[in-house]
Amino acid sequence: MLPDKDGPSMGGGTQGTEGKEDPSVTLFREYLRLRTVHPAPDYDAALRFLDRIANELGVPMKKVEVCPGRVVAIMTWVGTNPALRSILLNSHTDVVPVYQEHWKYDAFGAVKDTEGNIYARGTQDMKSVTIQYIEAIRRLTAEGKRFARTIHMMFVPDEEVGGHKGMETFVKHPEFQQLNIGFALDEGLANPEEAFTVFYGERSPWWITVRCPGSPGHGSRFVENTAAEKLRKIINSFLDFREQEKQRLDISECFTLGDVTTVNMTMVNGGVAYNVIPAEMDVSFDMRIPPTVNLLEFEEKIKKWCQEAGEGITYKFAQKHMDQNTTSTEDSDPWWNTFSSTCKNMNMTLKKEIFPAATDSRFIRAVGLPAIGFSPMNNTPILLHDHNEHLNEKVFLRGIQVYEKLIPALANVPAVAGEA
Ligand SMILES: [Zn+2]
Repeated sequence: MLPDKDGPSMGGGTQGTEGKEDPSVTLFREYLRLRTVHPAPDYDAALRFLDRIANELGVPMKKVEVCPGRVVAIMTWVGTNPALRSILLNSHTDVVPVYQEHWKYDAFGAVKDTEGNIYARGTQDMKSVTIQYIEAIRRLTAEGKRFARTIHMMFVPDEEVGGHKGMETFVKHPEFQQLNIGFALDEGLANPEEAFTVFYGERSPWWITVRCPGSPGHGSRFVENTAAEKLRKIINSFLDFREQEKQRLDISECFTLGDVTTVNMTMVNGGVAYNVIPAEMDVSFDMRIPPTVNLLEFEEKIKKWCQEAGEGITYKFAQKHMDQNTTSTEDSDPWWNTFSSTCKNMNMTLKKEIFPAATDSRFIRAVGLPAIGFSPMNNTPILLHDHNEHLNEKVFLRGIQVYEKLIPALANVPAVAGEA
């Protein structure tokens, strides 16, 4: 495969429309063709692309290598009052892998069909938003606009693999402090209806392995105190709770996935032979806990399940997020007020939700900054991480217009409490 061969001639199904394609769509499709896909994302290609964009926009771009080979890029448009806190427009550059055999088109071809649907990994998550930020800023700078607050566009690696070598490390970096951020926008999800979904918090991911030790012995006997008996009780406790939460979601009309705790048993380990009762078995669960749940009480519940299941049972967390910061969506909050009223003025309906999975926003909120997860994609099926991920060019272009209004409004929010 030739690297960076991404001229507009690539990708079928576009004949006849290329000539009048909006340049913003062409740029989006070019970016989609960069293979920033795990497990070996071509981050250098993304950085070359962003360098070129920064040049075109006439804004400086800073690169901070947060971990070896993991660079965060920041383009900065300085405001007329840089003492005020800045606005962060965040996006990640990486995308998740594909099962090419399930795709209608090359997942990195950015093919546009006759209806204007653009197919590629990252069309929704979240290369669209990256290009929408860039194109909105391009239009605003071209019009000679200036705003009070400084605007940073940040491009981070490794969001799709947990953000450990990306945003999680960068928020603790002195360079992050220096950005003096007041408010952040980051990714959200598509909405299949007319409304736009916005996310003001996330569930806390907890990954746990429960270890059940027991008496070993010959497979022909009734050995007491076996690992498997304990394992069964542990599995029952976790999955009974799963069922309760599922019912809570099913019977309530106003609940979404972000409002309940999900529990899934994802791994089981143990045993050496058919006729040997093992001395140990263990089981792992993926849990996602909404901000409304008291996490200390929740862990007590897990402890009780372990005690009830028998002697010597222990557990260990592979991931245990304790931060439950949410971003204010009160009308009295100047950031939310500006965000929501600007959307309202564009006749957009907003649906406020807790994000069901995890994004880099959780690291931003964890250091005490307000962040809203928002990807302006309505009337669009939710296809992130799915086969045939696509986005219609009209929805994409409308999103640029949305940011053309949102960015100036946010960057002109008057000094808030604690600002000079
Ligand atoms: Zn994403």
